Amino acid sequence: ARGHVCVILGPMFSGKTTELLRLHERHVRAQKKCLLVKYAGDTRYDKDCVATHDRKFGKGATLKAEHLADVRDKLFDKEIEVVSIDEGQFFDDLEDTVSRLALAGKVVYVAALNGDFSKKPFPQISILMPHADEVTLLKAVCECGLDANFTFRVTTDKKVVVIGGEDSYKAVCRDCYEKSLVER
Ligand code: ADP
Ligand code: MG
Ligand code: ZN
Repeated sequence: ARGHVCVILGPMFSGKTTELLRLHERHVRAQKKCLLVKYAGDTRYDKDCVATHDRKFGKGATLKAEHLADVRDKLFDKEIEVVSIDEGQFFDDLEDTVSRLALAGKVVYVAALNGDFSKKPFPQISILMPHADEVTLLKAVCECGLDANFTFRVTTDKKVVVIGGEDSYKAVCRDCYEKSLVER
């Protein structure tokens, strides 16, 4: 078997989860042994399934975890061929787990934010990048009509991790990011 690491990056609403599910479901259709991994702290649209903003739900076996080590035995099961991880930036052991899954010959997809709401990197994503065979950068649509590469927090909360949807975040282009900062 040959391992492969594919990282899907972008701001919120750029379609990362949609793309993750699309790729994952092709392997399900091909009758590969697949696992979806959901971050347990993300209960926005469903508490057990991987879900998109437009309420598409991941089909098939799904693990829910706070740390990937919590589901290590299932992930590293010899039978498992494909592992698709959503919200990768939230796992503190992402790089270690993904690199070892790939060494074990598994195909690994990771969907993650390209940066936080203040354009700072998520450390686990930064250190995962050197392991990637493939990287896709998706864009959302800004309110001005341009491509939106950045996630803007609508509220004044300062914590890095605040799980929310359209009530807390919007996707913006570079200029609208600055404009929104002034207007907030
Ligand atoms: P992500 O996982 O990147 O946050 P999802 O795959 O869950 O994104 O959802 C993508 C969907 O979000 C789009 O198909 C669209 O219906 C919806 N959406 C809401 N706001 C926007 C936006 N500003 N730009 C693009 N899509 C948006
Ligand atoms: Mg998503
Ligand atoms: Zn804009």
